[in-house]
Amino acid sequence: MTDHTNADTLRTPIVAVLGHVDHGKTSLLDTIRGSAVSEGEAGAITQHIGATDIPLDTISGMAGELIDPTDFDLPGLLFIDTPGHHSFSTLRARGGALADIAVLVVDVNDGFQPQTEEAIDILRRTGTPFVVAANKVDTTPGWNPQEGEPIQRSLEAQSERAEAMLNENLYEIIGQLSDAGFSADLYWRVQDFQKNIGVVPLSALTGEGVPDLLTVLMGLSQRFMKEEMAIDVEGPGEGTVLEVKDERGFGATIDTVVYDGVIRNGDTIVVGGQNEPIVTEIRALLQPRPLEEIRTEKQFEKVAAVGAAAGVKIAAPDLDQAMAGAPVRVVRDRPLEDVIEEVKAELAEIEVETADN
Ligand code: GDP
Repeated sequence: MTDHTNADTLRTPIVAVLGHVDHGKTSLLDTIRGSAVSEGEAGAITQHIGATDIPLDTISGMAGELIDPTDFDLPGLLFIDTPGHHSFSTLRARGGALADIAVLVVDVNDGFQPQTEEAIDILRRTGTPFVVAANKVDTTPGWNPQEGEPIQRSLEAQSERAEAMLNENLYEIIGQLSDAGFSADLYWRVQDFQKNIGVVPLSALTGEGVPDLLTVLMGLSQRFMKEEMAIDVEGPGEGTVLEVKDERGFGATIDTVVYDGVIRNGDTIVVGGQNEPIVTEIRALLQPRPLEEIRTEKQFEKVAAVGAAAGVKIAAPDLDQAMAGAPVRVVRDRPLEDVIEEVKAELAEIEVETADN
């Protein structure tokens, strides 16, 4: 069995993608995965359960001149595959957001829409750092697409008229961000990303600007989240349930994002349940089988351990009553009662939040 424990002490930042329906969240995630894969290297991305891991090397291959990989010691970015703010707001970790950083996708022609406003409210409430992906730049009249290129390269290839039209839309969005209380600018003009939101013009369809988005996400994580990314890789695993799913041969399983420590096969875990915390023992930790092995009957491969940050399917008895958004805690060398209390306290917090909305 493969050991998926991460040897580094800095974990991968967890990234969520939010925005109004049809503004391109799913397409953007697909493009990020697709362009990473077409970088060609084996191990360019790792498909987890519910998430995609893009290592720094792959990002740096895509970003070319935009990135000097020696500036970074975070291992890459882990994108949660389910886009949308409903999933984002239920996905909590120790009272905060599960995602360390977010991408707010805004259709450059459409600007702010109701779900954009909702997403902004949630990001503000959870204090989640974010960047704005001003998507669909390729729909600007007269656009000359530059597949997969950094956005400055692409802008150089546009007519003055096209660039002016795009700029008008971009400044509209910057104005809307300012109305929402966020000072923002085109990302290459932002000096202090703690004070200003960076806007990245891009196209999920042609991939132009996508290298810039990955670069900005890496930069932000490295500058402002390095301390939070420092984890005890041997510590008891902590995670959040993405989804509860029945799997043939396993019964009810929980797709989980692990954000701290390590989860091992056989560990006793406490999981937030509909009525009370569930105490159970892990029977299997499952990851998607690599594509080249998909011919076999089995969809999943068993792994011995999973270290943060990662998405994993946990099979264990009694998970029927587990809840999406609930905490998962490995007990290991601690009194079981303490861990149960921890899970209860966290669940109570989630319920208060939900009642507030
Ligand atoms: P979601 O609802 O936010 O996940 O949006 P989707 O990713 O499903 O995209 C909605 C529609 O917009 C689809 O028809 C996409 O093909 C289209 N779309 C998404 N991104 C782009 C883009 O950058 N350029 C163009 N021209 N179309 C796009």
